[in-house]
Amino acid sequence: MGTLSIVATPIGNLEDLTFRALRTLAECDVIYAEDTRVIAKLLSRYDLHKPLQRLDAMTEAERSGDVIARLEAGEKIVYVSDAGTPGISDPGARLVARVREALPKAMIEAIPGPSALTAALSIAGIDLTGGFTFLGFLPHKKGRQTLLKKIAESEIPVVLYESPHRIEKLLEELSSIDVSHVTVARELTKVHEEVLSGTAAELKAHFAAHSSTIRGEFVVIIEAQRR
Ligand code: SAM
Repeated sequence: MGTLSIVATPIGNLEDLTFRALRTLAECDVIYAEDTRVIAKLLSRYDLHKPLQRLDAMTEAERSGDVIARLEAGEKIVYVSDAGTPGISDPGARLVARVREALPKAMIEAIPGPSALTAALSIAGIDLTGGFTFLGFLPHKKGRQTLLKKIAESEIPVVLYESPHRIEKLLEELSSIDVSHVTVARELTKVHEEVLSGTAAELKAHFAAHSSTIRGEFVVIIEAQRR
């Protein structure tokens, strides 16, 4: 029986790859990746040459069958998403569930590493001893208003992922639901990494005034009840 390694990869800075992740990539038979072009850049940085197969949200169910067959043949298989930890707002969970179900004895190992979630929280300066809620991306339409209401009522910080084209809309919505404090961590591990905090209205005004900073990737932490 082979091994399926779920490997966390950098969220921007290619040096953020653990020694164990590097060794696992170097020793595997095949890498299944959310996007083979993205992982190709990482492999080239470390001069690794491996067969690549695509396994994204669309092909996850079907490709899981190939992975199961290869594990039965004893292969060492790596799964990587485009950035950070697979399964965290990324494909990976269905693959793991199918392998677990089909091959209960197969070794499925986590090779932990970067995630925008933990990176943002580690520099947000927010007390998390009471816990936090991670919602990933809010739905664009159905259920969005209900979740925004829940966020406004939450007694613990709520963490969201957001894309550059929607960050202004999100801040606009947050400013209308009376949350007391918002922290935005942008471009983590990259040259333009920054953490901004204030009211949603202040952050919205900041991004409106500095339109170049709307590029990039964002983690948004909302403290509805901060005093
Ligand atoms: N699996 C990834 C992880 O472990 O963080 C998350 C993948 S999700 C598709 C992508 C979202 O994560 C982005 O839209 C952004 O909200 C957040 N993200 C990823 N990289 C980031 C970075 N360098 N800085 C800030 N946020 C980032």
